Amino acid sequence: MRSWRGLAGEGPWLKKAGGIADMMQSPEGSLHEGTKDRDMSHFIGETCIGTKDTACVEVCPVDCIHPTKDEPDFETEDQLYIDPDTCIDCGLCVDECPVKAIYPEEDLPEEWNKYIQINIDYYKNK
Ligand code: SF4
Repeated sequence: MRSWRGLAGEGPWLKKAGGIADMMQSPEGSLHEGTKDRDMSHFIGETCIGTKDTACVEVCPVDCIHPTKDEPDFETEDQLYIDPDTCIDCGLCVDECPVKAIYPEEDLPEEWNKYIQINIDYYKNK
């Protein structure tokens, strides 16, 4: 399902954009209930391994899913990864994935928790 929380004014999309979520901060600096104190991201999990369908790459508006087919490590990497520093948490990639490998962090299957770090590490080592 597509996530439009950001457009509803309560998600991290606006927080990243310096929008309403920032204005929702209390005088003490803590965020309103329901918002998080850090940016959120989608992540790619286990079923991408051996699949590497790139439909998600095509729809991502901020080009934060790599490696792409024309990058040198596409053949050697087991899966695709989302850069959490760039992802705007829009959810457009979720329905494009034929093996349901992409989830917002809060909905990631528990047994896939390690994929959060795996996605992060790919970009850390770039
Ligand atoms: Fe790109 Fe949006 Fe998917 Fe993040 S949630 S990887 S920004 S398409």
